[in-house]
Amino acid sequence: FNLLPLSNEPFITYGPGSEERDALISALELMKNEAPFQVHPNVNGKDVVGNLTESQAMPWENSVNIAEYSTADQALVKQAIDGALAAKKEWCRTPLHDRAAIFYRAAALLQGPYRYKMMAATMLGQGKNAYQADIDCAAETIDFLKTFPALADQLYKNQPPINAPNVWNRTEVRPLDGFVYAISPFNFTALAANIVLAPLILGNVVIWKPSPGAIYSSWLFNHIMIEAGLPPGVLQFLPGDAVEVTDEVFNSRDMGALHFTGSTAVFKSLMGRIGSKMEFWRSYPRIVGETGGKNFHLLHPTADVRNAALKSVRAAFEYQGQKCSALSRIYVPASIAEKFKAMIVEATEALTMGSTFTDFIGPVISRSAYDRVSGYIKEAESSVDVAVLAGGVFDDSKGFYIRPTVLETKDPLSKFMTEEIFGPVVCIYVYDDADFGPKIFTLIDESTQYALSGAVFAKSRTAIIEATEELRFSAGNFYINDQCTGAMPGQQPFGGSRSSGTNDKAGTAGLLTRFMSQRTIKEGF
Ligand code: GLU
Repeated sequence: FNLLPLSNEPFITYGPGSEERDALISALELMKNEAPFQVHPNVNGKDVVGNLTESQAMPWENSVNIAEYSTADQALVKQAIDGALAAKKEWCRTPLHDRAAIFYRAAALLQGPYRYKMMAATMLGQGKNAYQADIDCAAETIDFLKTFPALADQLYKNQPPINAPNVWNRTEVRPLDGFVYAISPFNFTALAANIVLAPLILGNVVIWKPSPGAIYSSWLFNHIMIEAGLPPGVLQFLPGDAVEVTDEVFNSRDMGALHFTGSTAVFKSLMGRIGSKMEFWRSYPRIVGETGGKNFHLLHPTADVRNAALKSVRAAFEYQGQKCSALSRIYVPASIAEKFKAMIVEATEALTMGSTFTDFIGPVISRSAYDRVSGYIKEAESSVDVAVLAGGVFDDSKGFYIRPTVLETKDPLSKFMTEEIFGPVVCIYVYDDADFGPKIFTLIDESTQYALSGAVFAKSRTAIIEATEELRFSAGNFYINDQCTGAMPGQQPFGGSRSSGTNDKAGTAGLLTRFMSQRTIKEGF
């Protein structure tokens, strides 16, 4: 068969009265009744039943658990690594088309029998509404499953261009020596998929530590891959204590790569630990990570204010601001500031909150996220330099709810303009119109450690060109008159540099190259 061309899975809108909506409502009800689900590590294709010592609360209703789970201890991690390395002997020799067939079967399972179940798991477990869940656990996850095989194929076909007479040169695309250690985040089921699928398609084996904030959807994804035919041992699912699992993984000389999406602090510390024992590793571990952001919108005096305000609301508050790409600082020139603030406040106050279906805003993921974000809001309320323009209200009596909050500060270097909050909080700074140019670009570029996503809003072509040029290293994803979130696989390859990550762009051939290790063969005749 031919490999599938690159394409995007269409979104489902779940409009009132639609068949899809009814099916999803039934799946949600069933899942609520059946929860909590029991989740166990899955090693060599089998659940390893242990004591259910951990649980994950449903963020919507935190007295109810979506899952209770057992964790992998160090002996099980070791067993998983041994099993993976044994499984690799065959997996790395499996032809690309056979690996692709498994990916395509998994895509078909997600399009068909598992679609609503996965939607319900992502909605109930990760606090997403139907739209946010659909673009994530259905569309983007299916995109990765369907496009990685063709991207891998490009790499396999990329042979040395020159062959001298009587010589046949070729390069063999091999997986990395050893195994890949994958650590995935809670905020996108699709990113968990990206984390494990990129190494797998090239014949790597993966030791996967899923996020405690996405336990059930991660387990379900693993289950779908097994049902699609992934051989036992190729992907080892190891929920557990991050430190304990990592300690044991780092006891193996065979870790060929770390593939990580999560916080900047954790990534930096893992990198430090890897670097601290370079004599130990069999190969130089490849280190691939997507981490934090402090993403910006910069308005020029010629900006379409309504467009900028509405896009800012979406970028800051979709999925409660829990996207690495979420907007969290806005620079507005004084001449349009009052109009912009009035519009963003009005649109923010109109956002409804609380139900999986009809409301734009859901809960934040966990108690610790609630405490962190509400802590920032309390600090803003008591700070003389900061005004709370909208929101500022939070309540955890039922779920982890925080009203979307718009702040304004007079200090462009305040923590609200420089620190990643990872929640529904955005901060505005009003600048003098005359400062559009080097002064504002330097401020944006130098005031944070991050460089993930950003946008300029302007009608002036000169301003657009200037911002695009001068903010060249301030964002890995740069948008013009559009929101700084919502990157689509195959359309806007996603990733950032500096403390935002290694910028290997999720879902791309560039990312795949990090998990391959070529052998060059010259044959003389
Ligand atoms: N791809 C997502 C977007 O552009 C963000 C992924 C993330 O949060 O890491 O919205």
